[in-house]
This record gives sequence, C-alpha cells and structure tokens, in this order.
Amino acid sequence: MCRLPFVEIRVHSRLKIMSASVFFPIDKQQVVGVIGGGQLGRMLALAARRMGVRSVIWTGGLEAPAVEVADMVIDKPFDDPSALSEFCQTATAATVEFENIPLVTLRGVEKCIGLFPSPEAVGICQNREREKDFLRANGIPCAPFWVVDTLADLTAAMAELSGPGVLKTAAFGYDGKGQLRISGTETPSDVWERFGKERAVLEGWVPFEKEISVMVVRSPDGELRTYDPAENRHRQHILDVSIVPARIPREVADEARKLAGMVADALDYRGILGVEFFVNADGSLIVNEMAPRPHNSGHHTIDACACSQFEQQLRVVLGLPMGSTRLISPSVMLNLLGDFWKSETEPPDWTPLLNMPDTCLHLYGKRRAIGMRKMGHATILGADALEKAESLKAGWLK
Ligand code: AMP
Repeated sequence: MCRLPFVEIRVHSRLKIMSASVFFPIDKQQVVGVIGGGQLGRMLALAARRMGVRSVIWTGGLEAPAVEVADMVIDKPFDDPSALSEFCQTATAATVEFENIPLVTLRGVEKCIGLFPSPEAVGICQNREREKDFLRANGIPCAPFWVVDTLADLTAAMAELSGPGVLKTAAFGYDGKGQLRISGTETPSDVWERFGKERAVLEGWVPFEKEISVMVVRSPDGELRTYDPAENRHRQHILDVSIVPARIPREVADEARKLAGMVADALDYRGILGVEFFVNADGSLIVNEMAPRPHNSGHHTIDACACSQFEQQLRVVLGLPMGSTRLISPSVMLNLLGDFWKSETEPPDWTPLLNMPDTCLHLYGKRRAIGMRKMGHATILGADALEKAESLKAGWLK
C-alpha cells in the first residue's frame, strides 16, 4: 500500500497541503474503502475529504483518477488475497465504484468490514443475464429477452422475437460495448459468428421516446429517497447530457421513482443505486439496466442538489442519516468527452464555460484524451441550461 507521502512526490506538490487534513479527521476511526479508482472513486474520495473522513482506494493502476485525491492507495489486482487483507485492515467500511469486481473479493470484504451495497446486489447488476432474470422474477417491466448460449438457442430466440433486437454479452458490458443490433432478417448463423459466439442475452428492440434514469438511495433499514429523474441523451453510446428534471409528465416521473424504489427494495439494497429506463410513447416505462453505485447521470447532484449522490453513498456506508435529495436548481450535466480535446494532451478552451454564470467545471485529472473518454463534466444551472450546453458543445466540436 502507498500512503500519501509517496503519492505526493509522484503526483504534485499541491497534495502536501491536502495531506494535512488526512491526519486530523473529525472521527479518526472512519476510513471509507472504495473498490475501484475511476472518476466515481475520485468524487467519492473528494466527498469523504470534505466530511473529514479518510479514504483508501483499491485500484488497478496508479494512473487512475481517484489516486491523486485518496488518502491511501492499494495498487493491486482485485483478485489478489494480500490486497484484500490490506484493504480490510485499513478501511472501516467499504463500497464499490465499479461493478466488475470478482464476487469472491466482494464476499471477502463483506465478511470482514461490511460492503455497501451487498455482494449479492452487485452480483445481480454486474451480469445482464442475472439482472434480467431478477427484473422478470420481481415483476419489474423490462424488454422481452432470451438467454442464448448456442446457435440453436439464438435461432429459436430470433424466431420467437421475429423482429429487431439487440444481442448483448451476458457479462461485463457497458456503454454499448459487447452489443450487436439486429434487424431480425439476418441468418442466425451469421449473427452468431459476428457476435463471437459468447453467452448472451437477446433483447427485443424498444422503440422508446426518451431515456431517463433515477438515482435512489436506500438505508440499511429500508428507508428510500429518490432524486428527480434525469433525461439522458447519448453520443456514440456514451452519455452526452443529462437534463434534470427530465421533460416528462409528472405521473411518469412518479412511476419511475416508484419502480426505482421497487428495484432497490427487491435487491435489499443499501446505498446509492442508478436505475435506467426507456420511456415509451404512451408514457409506460421499461427498466434497461441498473448501476450499483453512483452514476454518470447523477453528477449534477454535486452542484444542483442539497446532498450529492457521493455524499449519500458515504452517509449510508458510515451509518449516518441520509441527506436530502431536493433539486435546488434545474440543471444540465454535460460530459466533457475526449473528442472535445484539441489533441490527446491539449484541452479545449474552457473560457466560454468559465465566463458563463452558474456553471461548474469538473475535471478528472486524466492525462490523455483518447477517443470518447470521459475526461470530466460540466454542470450548468438554470432554466436555459440546455441551450448553454449545446452552444458550448458546438464551440468545442468545431
Ligand atoms: P446498455 O449498455 O444496455 O445501456 O445499452 C446502451 C444503449 O443502447 C442504451 O442506452 C439505448 O440507447 C440502446 N439500447 C440498449 N438496449 C436497447 C433496446 N432493447 N431497445 C432499444 N435501444 C436499446
């Protein structure tokens, strides 16, 4: 494990000042352990620091965004037993910022210091097949689906679907990765070949009108609070903007909150959970997927809500009362993706954003902007936030 003095030399000297707070926390017993070192871990560690709580980040690689803001770092693979024991000796309670962690590791952490959410909940959300089975078993609306493991399964599923759909890997998929859209007229053997013959879920295509998500937080004793639904728009399968509140009728928003709560209850969830939905033209809702952690569509909560999704997670992990989910201002979260960068190392000109009133810039400290990598986000507050976001985007994409 490397403690801050080591990181401070490697990264830069500003950390020297920050390290002063490390050793004078409000409650020196509290050390939150975060499995994963991405931007979600970074924002969790920053929220912890603000609350006088220390953090230990377990990451695979010292270039990870959370490293430079964490108090302690364990840089070892997630299946390394020595890392598990260091993590459990250092942290007093733990959470995940990334769901693709071996279940055996999650169970080991749960047994030693407790894990929020539980390994069972993460296990369901980390695998599409388990996730779909869970939704169906709990009567929560989801797209029609078939689990396919062989060409014969796919042939039968395509015949039953008899229309457009999308084939998704059963495990480890995100941001549209491991997915193949089909029209339904293809030959199953061609589809199976192109997909790579992996265990998969074939989903019927949902001709949705909008995509929304609800962040829900649930305490260990079952109290639920939901944030206003976010309306999500994507570019190349990556979240582009989240508009909050979503532009949907009140009844649809209420139903989305209710379904998100049902999902959290059925998972016996503890902590913050993201539930993504498709909204059909008639206002009915279909759950697309769940994220057992803070979610990109909840980043606006840092600047636009009474208590952020990151602080909520910490409050639950630390056994504190949950915070208010109240939206203080309408907002748009604009993801700052790699294609805004002038080159891999040269950021766009932030001046137009910085000159706009009621905007906040968050950068994740990533050194290289490769492809559509998530480099940061901006929160734009106010009723005209979407127009402002579009004009910033147009300037940077020129
Ligand atoms: P996912 O990784 O499953 O969230 O899928 C990425 C994106 O693909 C979603 O946000 C949707 O825009 C689209 N998508 C996924 N599944 C479906 C579906 N069954 N019907 C229509 N669009 C879908």
